Formats: sequence, C-alpha cells, structure tokens
Amino acid sequence: MQRRTFLGLLAGGTIMSGLGLNKLFEKKDNGIKMPSLFIGHGSPMNAIETNQFTQTLNKLGKSLPRPEAILCISAHWMTAGTWVTEMQNPPTIHDFYGFPQALFDVQYPAPGGPEIAREVVAAAPLHHIKTDSHEWGLDHGTWSVLRHMYPEADVPVLQLSLNMNEGPEYHFQLAKEIAKLRSKGVMIIGSGNIVHNLRRLDWSKNARAYDWAIEFDEWMKDKILKRDFKAIQNDFLKSEAGKLSNPTLDHYYPVLYALGAGHDDEELKFEYEEIQNSSISMRSFRIG
Ligand code: ZN
Repeated sequence: MQRRTFLGLLAGGTIMSGLGLNKLFEKKDNGIKMPSLFIGHGSPMNAIETNQFTQTLNKLGKSLPRPEAILCISAHWMTAGTWVTEMQNPPTIHDFYGFPQALFDVQYPAPGGPEIAREVVAAAPLHHIKTDSHEWGLDHGTWSVLRHMYPEADVPVLQLSLNMNEGPEYHFQLAKEIAKLRSKGVMIIGSGNIVHNLRRLDWSKNARAYDWAIEFDEWMKDKILKRDFKAIQNDFLKSEAGKLSNPTLDHYYPVLYALGAGHDDEELKFEYEEIQNSSISMRSFRIG
C-alpha cells in the first residue's frame, strides 16, 4: 500500500511556523475535555462552497471549546501499519483529480505538533504507532472540514492514518486508547461518510436519496443512539443497504474512532443530517 498516492499533486510547503507547541502542550489536564467528533465530509467541493453543511461546521468551530490540537482520522490516509504525522508544518495535500483550480489553490497552513505526535504514540503502546515526518500532511478529508471550523488555521493539526490491514475491532480499540488525549486538550475528529458510494452519485440538482442510502443511514443513527458498538463493528455489511453504502471501508472506519473515543455517559448530539448527491450521507455528530 502506498502511503502517498498523490505525490504529483502535493502542494508546496507551508509558511506558518509552530506556535510554541511545547508550551501549548504543557497545559494538560486543565479540566476541559475536548469533544470527539464525526464529520461526514462528502465532496471536496464543500471546502470552497457555502451551504448548510459548511455553515454548521463554522458554527461548531465557534461554539466548541477551543482545542489545543486536533487529531484527525481521515478516510483518505490509508496505510499499512498505523502512522501519525509529526511534522512541524504539514503540507496541504490535494488528493483528488478533475476538480476546479480553485480547489487546488486552497492551502490550510495549520501547524503540526511533533510533541503531540509523541503523546499519541505513547497513548497506545500496543498499537505500535509510527511517526511520519515527510510522507503525508493534511489531506482533503481534514482540511475541507477544518477550513470551515477553524478558518484561521491557527490550531495545530495532526493526522492519524487508517491501518487498512486491520478490521473494525482494531480501529475501535485504538480509539479507546487515544481517548485519553481528549483530557489534554486534543479534539478527535473522524472524517469520513456513513454512506459513501461514488459509483451511484447523482449530481443533478433535484437528486433524491436512494432508499438503501436512507435505510443504512437510519440504521446507523439507531445503532449510534443505542451505542450498539458491536453491531456497528460487526453487522454493517450484513444488509444489502449496508453493502451498497460501503463498497469500500475507508469512509466507514473513521466513525469507529469518533465513537470509540467517546464514553457512554457523555452527551451524543447529531449536528448535521443530509444525504448529498443521492449516495453520500453527511451525518455528523459530536460526543462530549
Ligand atoms: Zn472522502
């Protein structure tokens, strides 16, 4: 498996310097526990459009407690083994083809956080997380969301990769390990889509959601509300609707991180619900 699939499209280096991260991260256990989020990111075009979804992200960024760092688990960083970015200035990666130049022009120059990367590694010793200082950066699963939540790009951002050699249980358990970082000022964001079938996309203006997309989206909503993590890990491909909604696993796995990093006694709130382009669920939620 390639760690960087879109080398030719990698944007130039970023200009922002680190924000004294050592100092930032000394402020640990200050009593404010950062939430764990799942964001259904949808089309990369959401990065440069203004719509109900992006306005929701903007409001979230203003209303949530300000994190000292963000650890994002994006559907778009698939690896063998588990990696965390540790560069001081992660480059903005434009990991897509065939979109307008305006999307390729987007830069999201948030600083990274080598200190925090080491904390991530230490939080899950049994998962043998490796640090990456030059291969990845921030892909559009991360910056298409964060440029609406934190448009100033002034919160340090790290990415944790999806180890595609492992199944749902691994991802859920790893999320439980990194959950402790929430008490150290780190917001955890899983960025994927609960329903994600690119072959069935309908770009027409009045596109109607497929019945199977609605069915699986509702199934997930129900299981999330019941916190039926066993079903979410084991049963999501058992129905025809589940199979059609998840032809690949990359956009599903990030939801396991948002859920695994939460606790059963915390408030769970759906922040956004919509099926875009007939076959993409934008369902997004917050825990804590
Ligand atoms: Zn995506």
